[in-house]
Amino acid sequence: MENLRSKCISLLEERGVTLDDIADCARFLQAEYHIDLKKEELLESVMSVLDKREVQFAILTGVELDRSAERGQMIDKDLEAILRRDEGLYGVDEVNAYGICNLYGSIALTNFGFIDKRKYGIIDYLNKHGKSGVTCNTFLDDIVGAIAASAASRFAHKWGK
Ligand code: MG
Repeated sequence: MENLRSKCISLLEERGVTLDDIADCARFLQAEYHIDLKKEELLESVMSVLDKREVQFAILTGVELDRSAERGQMIDKDLEAILRRDEGLYGVDEVNAYGICNLYGSIALTNFGFIDKRKYGIIDYLNKHGKSGVTCNTFLDDIVGAIAASAASRFAHKWGK
């Protein structure tokens, strides 16, 4: 198997998400504690989060489900319709994302809840586009939020005040 981190980065880019976008979300989550923080300073943490095998598997799984639903390729058409609608009570997309946050402690979990509600930056974009009927980003918005929340948590643990 090729380097899974590179594969995940390409997969995210194919779905419209760059490392820069994720670093910007992580910066947003830490901005209150480090006023002059630049998103570039969060990139190392984003890369470190993406290095973990459990994170990579969460990305592969979530993106595959989004793409299958988007292309009308799921076997279960009821589930496909639920994913395409991004139905509010579905919740498995968030549970997949918790798998990422759980590796980075309670700060990652609370950060994830916060950015999920605030829909900052690329997360807002993914969420709006996912509801357009053309694209399915049901899993992706949570994955991106969880990577950003985890990167912010890693940064906080390292440079916390
Ligand atoms: Mg979602």
